[in-house]
Amino acid sequence: MVPGVRYDRIDDAGLHVTVDGASSVLEVDTIVLCTGQEPRRDLYDELVAAGRSVHLIGGADVAAELDAKRAVKQGTEVAAAL
Ligand SMILES: Cc1cc2nc3c(=O)[nH]c(=O)nc-3n(C[C@H](O)[C@H](O)[C@H](O)COP(=O)(O)OP(=O)(O)OC[C@H]3O[C@@H](n4cnc5c(N)ncnc54)[C@H](O)[C@@H]3O)c2cc1C
Repeated sequence: MVPGVRYDRIDDAGLHVTVDGASSVLEVDTIVLCTGQEPRRDLYDELVAAGRSVHLIGGADVAAELDAKRAVKQGTEVAAAL
């Protein structure tokens, strides 16, 4: 874990980063990008367009954060209201 890191570029030398204004190269072979998620709401949109009553919760609602508690809370509230 490297806090406050800025990822500058990837090339044959590795991953170029800047931490607190100091640039360096991490000599790595494999880089896995975990750059966030986008919710897929195709089915939700289709059901709404068809006039159905639907609820949007959890990762389908907001996928931009790591918050399983919010998903569980939303699911619980919807279930209790049915
Ligand atoms: C890499 C990663 C790490 C994470 N770490 C954390 C963490 O440490 N702490 C934290 O609080 N949160 C974390 N999260 C976020 C957390 O996983 C989500 O907020 C939570 O899982 C959302 O719950 P959900 O029920 O809305 O969706 P999901 O858990 O994504 O469940 C949706 C389910 O629906 C299924 N599905 C999709 N489409 C269909 C379909 N058409 N028909 C039937 N089934 C379908 C999927 O297969 C899946 O099983 C992390 C997420 C990721 C990706």
